[in-house]
Amino acid sequence: MIIGTGLDTDCVGKQRRKMNIEKSQLIKGAKNDFVFVIGLEVHAQVRSNSKLFSGASTEFGAEPNSNVSFIDAGMPGMLPVVNSFCIEQAVKTGLGINAEINLISRFDRKNYFYPDLPQGYQISQLYEPIVGKGIISIQTEEKLPKEVGIERIHLEQDAGKSIHDMDPTTSFVDLNRTGIALMEIVSKPEINSPFEAVEYIKKLRLIMRYLETCDGNMQEGSLRADINVSVCEINTYQKFIETGDYDLLGTRCEIKNMNSLKFIQQAINFEARRQIKLKEAGKEIAQETRLYDPSKNQTRPLRSKEDAHDYRYFPCPDLLNIELERGWVDKIRDDLPELPDQKILRFINDFNITPYDAEVIIAEKSTAEFFEAIATNTDGKIAANLLINELFGRLNKDNLSFNENPTTVEQIRELINLIQEDKISSKGAKEIFDHIWNSGGNPTDLVDKLGLRQVQDTNLIEQIVDDVIKENPAQVDKVKSNPKLIGWFVGQVMKKSEGKADPKIINKIVNEKLM
Ligand code: ADP
Ligand code: MG
Repeated sequence: MIIGTGLDTDCVGKQRRKMNIEKSQLIKGAKNDFVFVIGLEVHAQVRSNSKLFSGASTEFGAEPNSNVSFIDAGMPGMLPVVNSFCIEQAVKTGLGINAEINLISRFDRKNYFYPDLPQGYQISQLYEPIVGKGIISIQTEEKLPKEVGIERIHLEQDAGKSIHDMDPTTSFVDLNRTGIALMEIVSKPEINSPFEAVEYIKKLRLIMRYLETCDGNMQEGSLRADINVSVCEINTYQKFIETGDYDLLGTRCEIKNMNSLKFIQQAINFEARRQIKLKEAGKEIAQETRLYDPSKNQTRPLRSKEDAHDYRYFPCPDLLNIELERGWVDKIRDDLPELPDQKILRFINDFNITPYDAEVIIAEKSTAEFFEAIATNTDGKIAANLLINELFGRLNKDNLSFNENPTTVEQIRELINLIQEDKISSKGAKEIFDHIWNSGGNPTDLVDKLGLRQVQDTNLIEQIVDDVIKENPAQVDKVKSNPKLIGWFVGQVMKKSEGKADPKIINKIVNEKLM
């Protein structure tokens, strides 16, 4: 039995827009009209303190083999016990991508010798995964919205780490990672460029970070992807989109275990071109698992690809089915946090900022929260500008992460108010920002301390305007025939006021006097 998505109780397929493949997406440099066909299997480590079937810790960077229970070590007679927290995280992730949740799912044994998984098999889910079909929305390179279908999410155990380069004659094994819970998120082959592949992973990672189900740290291996690549003639691919018939697609190769967005792009580009060369020479493409070598920027074969039946999957006899209560799933759905796409829409709407700014701001949960705190009941546009241009700019320059940001919400709110009330110019705001960045302080106090108070005294400004007009009779004559010269006058007045006069007032007076 399955439950529909949060948005629509109908099956997910119905609410999906039919996409089209565009001519502009053709792979360049080929004689025929080929498109990229890419399907990703993302392995996301569940954010859990203990492993999927044991109570051992999942802490990263611990002393090798210190986080290993008897179960992880594959000791005889040990029985796995499901970690219900991990189940909850998989369900949450499923709901976050509008996927079907399977109320009954089950674990299977995948029989394969991993030297760093002492059980001798991996406990995974093949036949009845916990999460079914879902959707991830991305933007194409042309900034068009696109929905990539998700086939399923299943839970499985991670393997440990074999180390072959510490000693010339000995291999080592570290079982700390053995048995950690992974969610394998399998997309449909609906990704059609290296750019889209990266957007897809970024979006998935962002959603999981908002849900707090996976930390998305690619360097630590919490997020890794197997990249399936084939190339397909465009009209045939169009037929695939219409029918969903996988047999129409060409043979794929799977590039294993990638954890760098840059290398993922390079690997796809290399692999597609390798396949096109073979096809155009009339040769067959072998279905195989390949590895990407960044130093040579090429993929090379690792092993010929097995099919599912080669693994002799069967239901794991040590574990019962997972049966979820509908009410429990509904409760998780009701408690989901606001997700990135919803946040973008709300920010555009509530704070009157551009879609582009909204996207930049929500790229991390912490920056979105900071923005909301500085923009609420102030001016959203000024807030966005200060955050993106001033704050992010300085973080970048000083090579700091957002949690090392030395400014506070209160300081920025005060600065926004000063700008809003025209007490300081935009140049003055930058100076104050510099000051609070480097040595802290209270923006209101700094206005006078740094001599930045904007002159708003109309009489005083009028006096300066009159002086400038008197000193430049030739320009005054010219401005009548060339109204653009008005800007020159504004500039002169600003200069004479040492940059302190309120530009809005100068503009008004100059216009009144000259136009
Ligand atoms: P396996 O478990 O053998 O790797 P799956 O059916 O789980 O096979 O598919 C794995 C991935 O391969 C999925 O992400 C799917 O979208 C992708 N895929 C399937 N066929 C193709 C193809 N012809 N070209 C590119 N990717 C494909
Ligand atoms: Mg696979």
